[in-house]
This record gives sequence, structure tokens and C-alpha cells, in this order.
Amino acid sequence: MPRRSWLLFAVLLLAASPATAQNVQSVLQATAIAMGMESLTSIRYSGTGWRGRVGQNVAPDRDWPRVELTSYTRTIDFETMSSKEEYVLEQGGRATSLVAGDHAWALDAQGQSLPQPALAEVRRLEILLTPWGFIKGAMAPGANPTMVTRQEYGGRSTVISFIAFGKYRVNGTINPEGMLERVQTWVPNAVVGDMYYENVYTQYREVGGVQIPRFHQHQDYDDGANLPNVSGGDHAFGLETVSELQANVANAALTVPTDVQRASIPPVRVDSQRLADGVWLIGGGSHHSVAIEFEDHVAVIEAPLNEGRSLAVIDEVYRLIPSKPIRFIVTTHHHWDHLGGLRAYVHEGATVITHESNKPYYQEVLRAGPWLLEPDRLSLYPPEEWSEGYIFETVNEKYVLADQTRTVELHHVQGLGHVAGMLLAYLPAEKILVQADLHSDQQQAPNASSRTLLRTLQRLDLDVETIVGIHGSPASLSSFVEFIGGGR
Ligand SMILES: [Zn+2]
Ligand SMILES: [Zn+2]
Repeated sequence: MPRRSWLLFAVLLLAASPATAQNVQSVLQATAIAMGMESLTSIRYSGTGWRGRVGQNVAPDRDWPRVELTSYTRTIDFETMSSKEEYVLEQGGRATSLVAGDHAWALDAQGQSLPQPALAEVRRLEILLTPWGFIKGAMAPGANPTMVTRQEYGGRSTVISFIAFGKYRVNGTINPEGMLERVQTWVPNAVVGDMYYENVYTQYREVGGVQIPRFHQHQDYDDGANLPNVSGGDHAFGLETVSELQANVANAALTVPTDVQRASIPPVRVDSQRLADGVWLIGGGSHHSVAIEFEDHVAVIEAPLNEGRSLAVIDEVYRLIPSKPIRFIVTTHHHWDHLGGLRAYVHEGATVITHESNKPYYQEVLRAGPWLLEPDRLSLYPPEEWSEGYIFETVNEKYVLADQTRTVELHHVQGLGHVAGMLLAYLPAEKILVQADLHSDQQQAPNASSRTLLRTLQRLDLDVETIVGIHGSPASLSSFVEFIGGGR
């Protein structure tokens, strides 16, 4: 490069970098002023809205089921990074979720604290996703925000981005009117990996000098741009009307209860129980699996929760039934709490058996694209069989797994309100029925799902002695029939 242009290049470089940094800070300053938050240290606001039950949609292409909130109050202290959210549900009941620094917890109906150590990081991140939290996070020392502009929201918008806690990219879009309109990030999720998470802020209005918007939150994508839409769940939270706002609340900082301070993420526990010759219930957590031995392989029913749970269950299966591969993983339904371990079984070489209506969604879930936040084995080491696509067997109304040693029937549960595409398993020789979310011995009263289970047993004329739930303890058929008949 000739000397002169090299010099010019160096001068331009010098001029460019500080000017950009300067720009980001001045855009953030201007936005803070527009939002009336220059001296804001804490905030409390109340209103009415709704919550989406994330991962619990009736079918994969449908939105998260909505729960109306007759009242919602949130108090945030930005200095101590603490937040308290109180929900009153229209159908009855209330919920409180809290975070302070590295500690997260909930309050039960009696006001007792329930430690939630695994949720602390994302809950702390959620403070930075509020309009005021984003601006504060981007302006914090060491945040090193970057800035780009683009044509959006009817004019030139500015996207400011920083990395929170050394891990999460947080983007905030400032619209042409100078207000923060959208904050987006990605959080780790056992089913979909780096899950898209965004808050949309519109219709700002001033209350006591501070600007407060309408809140509208998405968790995961509605894949409506691609037809057929295989993944419809997205609406996670909305605050439609804000009735009260208080800035700089006295005593907004939370005190962390002692049991919450001491809590750590409990290790995965696995307890197995022999149900019949070669049939094992693998419990020890909130969701069980069932292992069934065949002559030269094993079938497992249900891969719940997450990879950690499934790897522990897989180890236990190999301990109980040594030197036979797990050839099949049967999944009862697509709800996320029953699905988070599926990828671990596919990595292990198992074929997935599901109702045919779930296949397009499961293909999405089992994509071995990179998971950057919390990589699992399938994303890190995608196996050959996966890339060839030979990983599914689908069930319409009935499917039979059998060899000379054993028969397992899989049946579709029709007319169920809980979820579409639900399967149950029936072992005719052992007279065992395995089901998820239709009935549990912990249940207080019969509901539509337990009545559907009874109707299904009658319709299929199954000779059952023991009902094994993915939740709760095995129960006799007679106690189930009595429970449905008389209540308890
Ligand atoms: Zn379910
Ligand atoms: Zn369940």
C-alpha cells in the first residue's frame, strides 16, 4: 500500500471507532431521556393481561394456551437485579416468581418459598429484557454495545446489542420515534435449543414522568411463514392495560430467604421398580420412563424433561438390561416436559415412535443444527442415522412392537382435550397400561382426561390390571374405576 493511502486509512480508522462508541452512548442517552428513566432505580407496575403456557399447546401447530390474568404486579430493583412478579389467574389461584442476584424462587399458596436455582440466570436476564432494564444493561460499564441501523417500523431504526452475563446476546430496536420497540434474545431450552425470546413494546404512555408500553412477549417462533406451519407456539405473555406505575419504590430490593440462599440444583435421581419380568418403571423424578426388554433389544417409553435426565435413565436401562441396545423410544405426546430427552435417545441410536401427526414437529425438534448456549450431544455429534433420516416409526390408530418374547401395543387416544396425537402403551400378557397425563394417583378429582382414559379402555376392550403413569405411582385398574365413579 503506498504510504499516503496507508496514512489516510489509519486516520480514518482512528476517527471511526471512537465516533461509533460515542454514537451508541448518545443514542442510549437520548432514549433514556425519551423514556423518562434517567433517575429510575426501581419500578413497580400493575395491570391485567395473559400468560401463555409455553410448551403445552394442544397440537404442535397451535399457539401456547392462554391463561387470563386478572391482576399482575411486577416490582424491579435495578441496583440489586431483583424482581418480583405476582400473578392472579382468572381461573383461580395465584403465582409469585422472584429473583435476586443469583437466586430464584417462587412462593406457594401458603406463601412458603420454593427454591428454583435452575431458573436464576434466565430470570435475571429477563430484567434486562424490560424497556428500562435493556437501556441500563446497554449503558452499564463494560457492556460494549454495538449499533447498526436499518429500515424498520416506518423509518430508520437503530439496533443496539450487547452480550449479557458473557453469554446471551440481547438486541434492542429503537424505533424512528426514539422509543425502544423490541428486545430480543435466545435462551437455552431442552427441546428447541437456543430458543428465540422477544418482547415487543408499543403504545407507550407517560405515567408520573416514566414511559410505560403495552407488553407483548413471544417465546419460540410461530413458523407461519413456512407452510404447513409445524410449530405454532409463540405467545408467552401480555400486559394489555397498565393501571398503576410507581417509580423509585421504597424497599424494592428483595431479601433472599435462607433456604433459597442454600439451594443448589439437585442431581438427577433415578429409582427403578420392576413391574413384571423385563419391564421396569424408571422413576426418581417428576416424570418417569418405562423400559421394556425384548429378545435382542430394549424399547423405552417416554424421554421427558431434558438430556441430563435421559442420559441418567439410559445408564440405568443398560444397568438393568445389560448388552441390549435401546432400539425404540416411544413418546406419548409432544408437550415439552415430556419431550426434552428425545434427542438424547436419537443420539443413542434409537428410532422414535410417535403419532403420525407429530412427525413434522419432531423433525424440527430433532434437527441437529448448532445449539450454542447449552449444546447437547445431538448438536455436537450428529450421528449418521440421523442425517439419513431413518429415525421415525409413526402410529396412526394402532402399532405393535413384538418378537417371540413379548408384545407391546401402542394405541392412539381419541377425543382428548389435553393434547392431540397422544399414545398409550398396552402390554397384553402383563396386563399393564402405560399412560401420561391422563390419570395420576396424585390427582384430587376425576377430570376430562381421566374420563377419556376410561372410555379408551372400554373402546379398545383392553384387559388391564395395572395402570402405570409417567407421573405418580402405579395403580390398580379397580382403584382407578372407583376413583372415576365416586370421586375421592
Ligand atoms: Zn402433557
Ligand atoms: Zn405430564
